[in-house]
Amino acid sequence: MTTPQIVTRFAPSPTGFLHIGGARTALFNWLYAKKHGGKMLLRIEDTDRERSTKEAIEAILDGLKWLELGWDGDVIYQFSRAARHREVAERLLADGKAYRCYATAEELAAMRERARAEGRTRLYDGMWRDRDPAAAPSDVKPTIRLRAPQTGETVIEDQVQGRVVWQNENLDDLVLLRGDGTPTYMLAVVVDDHDMGVTHVIRGDDHLINAARQKQIYDAMGWALPSMSHIPLIHGPDGSKLSKRHGALGVDAYRAMGYLPAALRNYLVRLGWSHGDQEIFSTEEMIAAFDLSGVGRAAARFDFAKLENLNGHYIRNADDQSLVKMFEDVLDYVPGRGELKAKLNDTTRAQLLKAMPALKERAKTLIELIDGAYFIFADRPLELDAKAAALLTSENRKLIGLLHSALEKVETWSAASTEAALRIFAEENSLKLGAVAQPLRAALTGRTTSPGIFEVLDVLGCQESLGRLEDQATT
Ligand code: GLU
Repeated sequence: MTTPQIVTRFAPSPTGFLHIGGARTALFNWLYAKKHGGKMLLRIEDTDRERSTKEAIEAILDGLKWLELGWDGDVIYQFSRAARHREVAERLLADGKAYRCYATAEELAAMRERARAEGRTRLYDGMWRDRDPAAAPSDVKPTIRLRAPQTGETVIEDQVQGRVVWQNENLDDLVLLRGDGTPTYMLAVVVDDHDMGVTHVIRGDDHLINAARQKQIYDAMGWALPSMSHIPLIHGPDGSKLSKRHGALGVDAYRAMGYLPAALRNYLVRLGWSHGDQEIFSTEEMIAAFDLSGVGRAAARFDFAKLENLNGHYIRNADDQSLVKMFEDVLDYVPGRGELKAKLNDTTRAQLLKAMPALKERAKTLIELIDGAYFIFADRPLELDAKAAALLTSENRKLIGLLHSALEKVETWSAASTEAALRIFAEENSLKLGAVAQPLRAALTGRTTSPGIFEVLDVLGCQESLGRLEDQATT
């Protein structure tokens, strides 16, 4: 006996960028499919023609690619399947499982008013459910509504939420096809999930109520309901709805803030899912460990500091060459970095690579990495920041002149040889090494913090180092 293949899907609406919650939904679907040797399909739910944009579709595809969450097969565009959605509505109509509703906008508005006044959640009163279509007004384009059960319960056995029960008397006969013949979202999702062979629906719990209505369509068609998992939404650190300030941003914003895709994946997987107290997961570990039973019911809280720390971990553990590449790539996403990008060439790339072991220890994001590497790209004469300027007193500028003479004599320039020369210099002048290193750092980097001074000397090389000292020295 062969077990049927697991098929999950990510079904974003392209009305905005791929936001962080959507990225987590995609990740969960991806992990579940990978773990079970199945497929994750991608369906763009572009039926809202007014709000769907090409840019949003691009951003979603780019975001998924950047996060390395590949989908299987071609992207499915929901709008292109409208004829099939209509066909299913017509079929339900022909089977008596749906009916034409000729209620006018005014009648519907009055019904809603009445329902509200009486405190009922069921807004449509079923006025055309059993009415003879011969009585239909000729000037109303009818909608097609599902003949939903009016008694009993609709039950979803949710993998995350548990058993969720709705009383059918509270659910409307939902519209499947609008008066203009366009399918509703509810119908489109069901037909697409069925036709795509989706076995597992994993999505945000804001869709839980939709699951009940969608189940009624499945039942009417005699189709099996996929396994349902509604995952709690992501909230802000204080438990309120996630705001922009607290992380409700597009994945592109995280890219521009210098997060690594592997770090973001690791952060996202732990947002709402746990596996003992393990925090760090390689992709393979994540796939092996992921299960829906590990998804909690409480809303996850977004924590920027935790994401940053995790990112720092990934940066420290990344190999130097790939960090140089990421450094270069991220420049395209950070505004105002064109000038830096223009300075990248074989020489500066080699310098960057050499400096990377020291730089990556200090950076939690690629932006901090860029900032730490500024000294490689700085033009002479260096602009000194306030602290460096204060440090370069006239006395220290004289010291820089003496250091220049001492370093000039170094024959084979390296971290070790410059260190030896500086130690001898400090000793001969009865100075502590720190008293020499600080002004030297200010002159070489324009700042008072940088990687180790011998590494800086090594990375900059003899000519550039001596040139920078000359710029700041006085006699
Ligand atoms: N298009 C819906 C959304 O972006 C998702 C629908 C679904 O997953 O069923 O929220």
